[in-house]
Amino acid sequence: MKNELSRRRFLGTAAAAGLGLGLSRNGFAAQGGARVTVCNPLLRTPLSLIIDDSCPVINKAYYWILQRHDWRLRHEPNSRPSGWEVHYDKLDKMPNTIPAAFAAEWGQWCGEQGIRGKFSMVPFPAGVGRIDKGFPGFPAQELKDWLRVTKEIIWKNFDLTPEMLTHTRVVDLKTWELTDQWEQGEWVDPPVDRLTEYIATAMQLLKNVGIACDGVTSPGAFGKRKEEAYSRAVLDAALQVNNNPRPFYFLNMEMEEMPDVPIRHVDKAKGTAIASIIGCAGDWFGATGFDTSNPDLFITADLQGGRLPAVLAKERPAVLVGHWPCFYVNDRIGFKVLKEVKKRLDAYDPDKTKTIWMKNSEIGHYWMARELSELSVADGSKYRVSTKFPTDDFTLAIHDGVAKRIQVNGTDLRQVQSQRDFRSGTFLVTGKETFTAFDLKAGDTTLSLTL
Ligand SMILES: [Zn+2]
Repeated sequence: MKNELSRRRFLGTAAAAGLGLGLSRNGFAAQGGARVTVCNPLLRTPLSLIIDDSCPVINKAYYWILQRHDWRLRHEPNSRPSGWEVHYDKLDKMPNTIPAAFAAEWGQWCGEQGIRGKFSMVPFPAGVGRIDKGFPGFPAQELKDWLRVTKEIIWKNFDLTPEMLTHTRVVDLKTWELTDQWEQGEWVDPPVDRLTEYIATAMQLLKNVGIACDGVTSPGAFGKRKEEAYSRAVLDAALQVNNNPRPFYFLNMEMEEMPDVPIRHVDKAKGTAIASIIGCAGDWFGATGFDTSNPDLFITADLQGGRLPAVLAKERPAVLVGHWPCFYVNDRIGFKVLKEVKKRLDAYDPDKTKTIWMKNSEIGHYWMARELSELSVADGSKYRVSTKFPTDDFTLAIHDGVAKRIQVNGTDLRQVQSQRDFRSGTFLVTGKETFTAFDLKAGDTTLSLTL
């Protein structure tokens, strides 16, 4: 059974091959020695939870609907409401704030559950207030509490990103007034010459309150029609503001085919690149709190149906996406769905050998290491991994090679007998294959095998 499992995992890696996975594409065969390939981290498939539209203090859905309604009446009075504006008649059921105390409770629960992912922090949400200057009309203490909860509780398990500046209308950076353009409207096809400054400004506002963000989230399809230029601008802004050489962005969803982790703008010599994190499922938590809300669409009670088992079966990163308002409004409808989905995912993987919760940045770093590291052979039993793209839990399969001893940079790894005990700093022999995992540092790593 265990053997079959490992084989399935290896085949999964090989199947991913045609997508340009560098080192794992063809594997690497030492002269007369074993073939080596990179596997999923700890032979487990990444799970990650993306939370969009979270802001300090305000409920973004409330203001988005209000502003979109006003805008439409001014500019396109004969058009029908679209997007979240269809919920204009429910504004009286939507609070205009979401309390920091709730964010604390939510973040604590996710931490206890081992859930990891990405949490947006819109820095000038709906133009109502700047995260570094305060929200006029709201108690100053609420922003303070939000910053404390975000940094001390949520950040432990979630990357923090801006979702551009307002997530509603585009800001004129000279006057800080809102323009008539929309970040997720006109700026789906953004002016390239202004992109880096706009993104860097969003990152800087977070930095002003002590948050060095790990990447960015697109509001809607912001940047989509110029994705190459947009992802370049995110990398440039990340380097400029936070000296972050390996950020990520979240823009795309893949709801039918199998998701991948595309890496763009690689400079191997400098060690810079950017990962595109792709959501694999719709927001079935409930978005505004009044949209589709159904755990079965993620994973059915019998653990067989729904989108997640299909993606996990192919061993591709299963990235869930939910919008923050639904976790609180309408009697916490989205939080209830999340609790049910987590319960089912735990049942799907009771001994925690199939899946691993990761932050978006951890997935990005792993895929960079997987695709951009170089493996060479020193002699038949010594390999060298050279990289400027470090990662935790770097996992290799040595095919047709039963190792008796493995050393990484001269230090012995511990042999374990079951996948349950397999972690960084160990190796595991199953049948004719050996799997090993270690934290891959930048530079050269020497792997010595005694077969
Ligand atoms: Zn959004």
